[in-house]
Amino acid sequence: MTTVRTRIAPSPTGDPHVGTAYIALFNLCFARQHGGEFILRIEDTDQVRSTRESEQQIYDALRWLGIEWSEGPDVGGPHGPYRQSERGHIYQKYSAELVEKGHAFHCFCSAERLDKVRAEQMEAKQTPRYDGHCMSLSAAEVQQRLAANEPNVVRMKVPNNGVCVVPDMLRGEVEIPWDRMDMQVLMKTDGLPTYFLANVVDDHLMGITHVLRGEEWLPSAPKLILLYEYFGWDKPQLCYMPLLRNPDKSKLSKRKNPTSITFYERMGFLPQAMLNYLGRMGWSMPDEREKFSLDEMVEHFDINRVSLGGPIFDLEKLSWLNGQWMRELSVEEFAAGAQKWAFNSDYLMQIAPHVQGRVETFSQIAPLASFFFAGGVAPDAALFAHKKLSADQVRQVMQLILWKLEALRQWEKDKITGCIQAVVEHLELKLRDAMPLMFAAITGQASSVSVLDAMEILGPDLTRFRLRQAIELLGGVSKKENKEWEKLLASIA
Ligand code: GLU
Repeated sequence: MTTVRTRIAPSPTGDPHVGTAYIALFNLCFARQHGGEFILRIEDTDQVRSTRESEQQIYDALRWLGIEWSEGPDVGGPHGPYRQSERGHIYQKYSAELVEKGHAFHCFCSAERLDKVRAEQMEAKQTPRYDGHCMSLSAAEVQQRLAANEPNVVRMKVPNNGVCVVPDMLRGEVEIPWDRMDMQVLMKTDGLPTYFLANVVDDHLMGITHVLRGEEWLPSAPKLILLYEYFGWDKPQLCYMPLLRNPDKSKLSKRKNPTSITFYERMGFLPQAMLNYLGRMGWSMPDEREKFSLDEMVEHFDINRVSLGGPIFDLEKLSWLNGQWMRELSVEEFAAGAQKWAFNSDYLMQIAPHVQGRVETFSQIAPLASFFFAGGVAPDAALFAHKKLSADQVRQVMQLILWKLEALRQWEKDKITGCIQAVVEHLELKLRDAMPLMFAAITGQASSVSVLDAMEILGPDLTRFRLRQAIELLGGVSKKENKEWEKLLASIA
């Protein structure tokens, strides 16, 4: 019998997402339950959005939770490289094979032509799809245009009618009509593969036997299945896990819930409680107990116990569960956990230079700097009253700064200042117009240490969280404002 091999294949394009940890956990449990292997692959073919910082954060966040992989870019293994950006030559080869077999073709259509076709199809109320224009080029013409280095992509052929039957471990057979599938681009003009080609080739070459992935990928499953057939490869078993949702049932989003794993670490959650909570997402123990460890989950794991109703990721429920875990720690473990979290000399050394000049006795440290040891702060709304700006402008400045800070990858004081500066300049304001607002949101106090230093030390998760909370306190952002301000954001350098 072949060994079970599962994988997580995150794209390193932002903060390490709780959804990634959730899918990783289920893949890990499935593999362990079958005495198999769980591996990690980095899908970084989007060269513009992928960063090494984000990749490192994914490793750190998963390890913090106690999720380990036996092969991956950082630990090596027999099927490497495990980073797609290092596998370019492999995809080239397989793309050429598909073209040669007549399952894929070179497409030279310009963006203008594709836009035009799309607009016409929309006008005629048809599903926008590639119209097959380049499929009919003669072999000689294709060769000639390739020889002339004309920019092109490789597209896969897809049937025009009939249905594709997707065998899903949770739903049984899901039928998806072929006419919903576009002739997917497999290789881009830059010679890099898209998700579809790279994912299928790698899952095959890495010996993956079971793919547990998020349900958002179900609609595109026919394209993956067809690729396996074109190559003549065995398909892995497919399992589409229900998506995590906000309490209002919408897809989990950072507008409504913090989604970065590092946020939960910074807030002082216990990794074992967090992992336990993720295990509760759509899954339950046979005896329905709420609190269980990873080992217990593996012992009782049964993928058929995953229920398809969208599991709700609820901060209050998570906090409750965390409280259960906290109370069962020994006093020594509790103290050691707190120390590791923020009561350690490293953290104190970061804070000390900003506090020393402002106190006369050590006993004044806590009142001055308690916000460094808090998750949210509860500022008084009166602190946001502004001499120059209206209440609406106050919210606008704060929201724009929040968005800029959400996109900031290098969390350093001068970069943070740069974000604030860019917003105020665009609104024809001064830095000193925005700083008191930041001060109130971040420290929750009327006076304390320099807020820019505080933001740097607190880190991106708590800073953004507090800004978001302050904006909510002041009434939040309406849908209309959101739209208008997003446009404004786009014009800020
Ligand atoms: N790179 C994809 C992602 O980031 C992987 C999806 C899959 O598991 O196939 O979600």
